[in-house]
Amino acid sequence: MKKITFSTNQEMEIIQLTDKIKKKMEDIDIGNGLLHVYAPHATGAIIINESADPNVQKDILNKLKDIFPKNAGYEHDCIDNNAHSHLMSTFLGCSETIPIENGKINLGTWQDISFVETDGPREKRNVYIQIIEK
Ligand code: ZN
Repeated sequence: MKKITFSTNQEMEIIQLTDKIKKKMEDIDIGNGLLHVYAPHATGAIIINESADPNVQKDILNKLKDIFPKNAGYEHDCIDNNAHSHLMSTFLGCSETIPIENGKINLGTWQDISFVETDGPREKRNVYIQIIEK
């Protein structure tokens, strides 16, 4: 298992992790298997989608805000006022699994693995990557 640690700079943002993940995998000798990417956070998520056009990220964040508006009478808001962030990360999920074929992550041309911050900025976010060989 390997860990990627980074900070986030905005309340909501999408951070592309594909390059960092590939770098972490450089010294791992693997043919075929699975890559598991996991974020141990209640207000952060892992997604696979396009990051080449930053407007895709903007559209995703804007739609999340539409679906889960702040202060919509959520029960959890009386604790730390971030129920909308918990709902967003639950909706997106905290992990993704991607096939590895001949040593390469089998992502589509326009796919990237990204972390979605839903309650930032945060000084320390962690993402774990684990490879299952078959
Ligand atoms: Zn909370």
